[in-house]
Formats: sequence, C-alpha cells, structure tokens
Amino acid sequence: PTLLAIESSCDETAVAILSGEPGQPARILSSEIASQIELHRQYGGVVPELASRNHSLHLRPLVETALRNADTDLCSIDAFAATSGPGLSSSLLIGSTAAKALAVSTGRPFLAINHLEGHLLSPFVGLGEVPPHVALIVSGGHTLLLDVEMPGRYRKLGSTLDDAAGEAFDKVAKMLGLPYPGGPEIEKTAMGGNPEAFEFPRSMMKDKSLDFSFAGLKTAVLYTLTDRNPETGQPKTEDLPDLCASFQQAVIDVLVAKTVRAARGRGRDTIALSGGVSLNRTLRNAFQKRCDADGIRFLTAEPGLCTDNAAMIGFAGLLHHFAGQESPLDEDIHPNLPLPTL
Ligand code: ATP
Ligand code: FE
Ligand code: MG
Repeated sequence: PTLLAIESSCDETAVAILSGEPGQPARILSSEIASQIELHRQYGGVVPELASRNHSLHLRPLVETALRNADTDLCSIDAFAATSGPGLSSSLLIGSTAAKALAVSTGRPFLAINHLEGHLLSPFVGLGEVPPHVALIVSGGHTLLLDVEMPGRYRKLGSTLDDAAGEAFDKVAKMLGLPYPGGPEIEKTAMGGNPEAFEFPRSMMKDKSLDFSFAGLKTAVLYTLTDRNPETGQPKTEDLPDLCASFQQAVIDVLVAKTVRAARGRGRDTIALSGGVSLNRTLRNAFQKRCDADGIRFLTAEPGLCTDNAAMIGFAGLLHHFAGQESPLDEDIHPNLPLPTL
C-alpha cells in the first residue's frame, strides 16, 4: 500500500508519501518539508500563531509537490495519516484536518499518529521490521527511555525530570548568545573546543533510576559564565568552543551511560536512538563506540528523519495500516498526548 502522511505538530510543515509491505523496508517516495526556522528565529523560539498560519499557507502546495515527486496522484493513495499530538494545538489542527479531508474525499482510511511514536520508529524505516530493543528519544520536548517489545508495546524506563535534552541545548545556546535552534549551533561551535575544559555535572549518572535531569547542568553553565565574566555574565568569545564542547559532552555521557545500562537491564541487544538531538554527530559516534565495545547493535535514524518530518509519521502510519487499524474521523487532536505505555 501507499500512504500519504502529514506532520504539522510544531514549526515544520511536512508531507511524505511512502509505500511498503509488512516486514519489508518502507520506500519513501517523497518527503517534503517547509521549514519555518528562519521565520521564528527572530523571536528566539516558536510563535504558535505564526506557525499555524504558515502551515495553512504551505500545506496544499506541499501535498501537490509530494504527489508530483512521488510520481503519483491522490486516487492512488491507500491511506492518509497525520500527527494528532503531542504538539501545538493550532498547528496540529491544520495537518490533521487536511488529512481527514483528503481521506473523506477519496474514501480512504485516516490514521491519527502519535508524534513520539513517529520519532521512536524512525530508525527502522529502512529495516521495515522493528525488533525488540531499548529506545532513546531525544527531541526538543522529550527525553524518553523505553523498552520496546514490538510496535505498540512500549514500557517507559525513564524520562527527564526537568528540561528535555534538546531544550537544554536550546536554552544553553541562548545563554551563550547563539541563535535558535541551539542544538546545531552548539554542535558547530563545539568542534574547535575541548570537552574536558570545564567540569560540568553529569546529573543522576550514579543514580539507580533511569531518569534524567538537565536543569543543574544548565545552571552550572550559567554560573561558569558569571564567574568568568562577572561584569556582563556574557561568554568571552574565546571560551565559546570549550563551553559548548564541555556542555555537549556532559549531556552525551549521561545519555549513553543510562541507555546502555537500560539495555543491559532489559537484556536487549539493540539500542535505537531518535529525535532531533540524535542528529548530533558527537552523540551518534559516542553511542556507536560504546555499543561496539559492549556488543550491542546500534541503530539511529537517517539524518533526514531525525528532526520533525512526515516520513517518520508515514512509517508509523504504515505499521498501523498493516495492523488493520484506522482512526475515526472525529478523532481530536491532543496537545499533551503521551506515548501509550504498558
Ligand atoms: P518533540 O518531538 O519532543 O515534540 P520537537 O519536535 O521540537 O520536540 P525535534 O524536531 O525532534 O523536536 O528536535 C528539535 C530539537 O533537536 C531542538 O531542541 C534542537 O536544538 C535539537 N537539535 C537539532 N540538531 C541538533 C544537533 N546537531 N545537536 C543537538 N541538538 C540538536
Ligand atoms: Fe519532534
Ligand atoms: Mg522541530
């Protein structure tokens, strides 16, 4: 079957068309994104009203582009999927209403997809099947460690008690005067820096729980700034690479240690990493190295599938479609939708 998916949970309008068969790698026939990063950058974050207006502006042409690039038409689509949460309600509404309208007008099923499940399953698009594994989702709003028995059977092992990993990157970048979104800026700036230059805390690393905390690390960066430059509290330009590298390493050490510990504890031989922060090369390399040393298979999403995109929603949609599922057309959007866990 062929499926068209729409993602509009936050500030990216995205449409993808995928085809697949159960147990086979999914084929991404097209995957289009209209990014609003430039638009929101001047405000230092996402402005919901602007985001939803832009979704409605871009969605229709994006659907047309996706169909054209996939060399197909609406009548050949077997199911329509859209993110129904979590996210900004005014943004979610645009994508899910559009997908429902397309489903009604073509008489095909509609599938409401959980954005987090999209991230979670994104490392498996090219594999087509989802083996038992331990998953770490590191995104702008979530840091979630899960045991995955199979699609739909998720057990929560740990999550952040305060900031999400991506949020910590974004907030620290803001403190350092780097533009939004902060993750890629910190990674770039860290390249010339020494990750051991500053001794930042590895919060809850020795703690038995599999939860995370990044607020203390953020505060430690702030204190370092004010200590080193009491007058302005602003970073000295020459400090930036070391600050970024040391902060980034502190986040990475905790993420890798806890995820590997979780895999050991659950007896899983596969770790899958997803979400926007998983774009970070230093993080991917650290996971790969540690997993190689520990005999664990490490899977992560392709770069184009890490930050918000519709292909990951389409893949989750395909798996639901294969399972014979379908959502009612009066299915609402859910801004605070959690990932359903056991
Ligand atoms: P959620 O999925 O939890 O609702 P979101 O959709 O906003 O949140 P994503 O789009 O998956 O999150 O990821 C965006 C986050 O990823 C931002 O916080 C951004 O700073 C971070 N990020 C992107 N690239 C990198 C990178 N190279 N290094 C670190 N963080 C990064
Ligand atoms: Fe996301
Ligand atoms: Mg985003």
